[in-house]
Amino acid sequence: MFKGILIENDDAGYRATVRDIDETSLPEGDVLVRVSHSTLNYKDGLAITGRAPIVRKFPMVPGVDLVGVVECSMNPEHKVGDTVLLNGWGVGEVHWGGLAQKARLNGDWLVPLPSQFKPQQAMGIGTAGYTAMLCVIALEKHGVKPDDGEILVTGAAGGVGSVATAVLSKLGYGVVAVTGRPEETTYVKSLGAIEVIDRSVFSSPGKPLGKARWAGAVDVVGNHVLANICASTKYRGVVTSCGLVGGMDFPSSVAPFILRGVTLVGIDSVMCPRIDRVDAWHRLGLDLDVDILRAITREVGLEEALPLASCLLDGKIRGRVVVDVN
Ligand code: NDP
Repeated sequence: MFKGILIENDDAGYRATVRDIDETSLPEGDVLVRVSHSTLNYKDGLAITGRAPIVRKFPMVPGVDLVGVVECSMNPEHKVGDTVLLNGWGVGEVHWGGLAQKARLNGDWLVPLPSQFKPQQAMGIGTAGYTAMLCVIALEKHGVKPDDGEILVTGAAGGVGSVATAVLSKLGYGVVAVTGRPEETTYVKSLGAIEVIDRSVFSSPGKPLGKARWAGAVDVVGNHVLANICASTKYRGVVTSCGLVGGMDFPSSVAPFILRGVTLVGIDSVMCPRIDRVDAWHRLGLDLDVDILRAITREVGLEEALPLASCLLDGKIRGRVVVDVN
């Protein structure tokens, strides 16, 4: 038996509880991992609370991220004793995830833990941080350089936003951070932001084109915020869109794209090819100051993770939550 969060949805209702789970009920897979840490991402908050239909099979162990040690392997890539990392691939949605002491997984989903990081540090980064790195790499691939101008980062006090702010600042970009929590201004500046703007500036319907200011952007919000960012991005600037905390809509016009040559880049971490994941984690090892992870992260146990899920969805969590599952 092992401990884990189990989400059930039956006549007794939708509920997530910490339970003793029998190892024989683990799903199929060629690698058994003894999990040490997982995290709480926005998607995990949705899964645990049931606020959106993230979980597509019941019962389900949530947790889109995990790190742990291989306990049993039929996969030639992973040996017993290796420390491995997993982000996404539908884990915590259609396949049992990381918020438990054991996980049986497809070995092709696992990547080795980069040597720069301890297991809990890797979870301090988690899917949120790895997605932030995918956004940074996308800006670079589309030619945005530090000298081109300011980069706007939304949801800056949250998971993706905190890591994006820290990495871009370390790379020499001038980061302008957007937050809805003025009380987090000092925190966001401590990550390297040169200026902090209140969320309300971007959240109402705006014009098709506004004053051109941003060389690039990392947006976790969507909706009017994303539309207003596109409208205020400089000629040939690049906007990366990875989140929807403000909603799924995108009430924009084609004006920024056809008149200013703005590029909108979609970022997906879940099905991202392995080669790009390994590259993103390698880059995190180079470009994220591990000391900053201490400021970004708080660590909790499985029981404590449950009430924090709704706090996260309400935008009340600073940075990242690491879950020590043991
Ligand atoms: P967090 O909850 O950690 O951070 C989100 C932040 O967004 C909050 O801290 C808050 O920051 C801000 N925010 C919250 N509600 C609103 C709102 N209504 N309007 C504007 N801003 C708001 O989540 P993550 O950083 O983990 O994830 C952010 C988004 O990115 C989510 O939508 C998530 O699903 C998505 N995501 C997508 C991935 C992909 O593969 N495409 C992977 C990972 C995440 P502040 O108070 O500073 O404004």
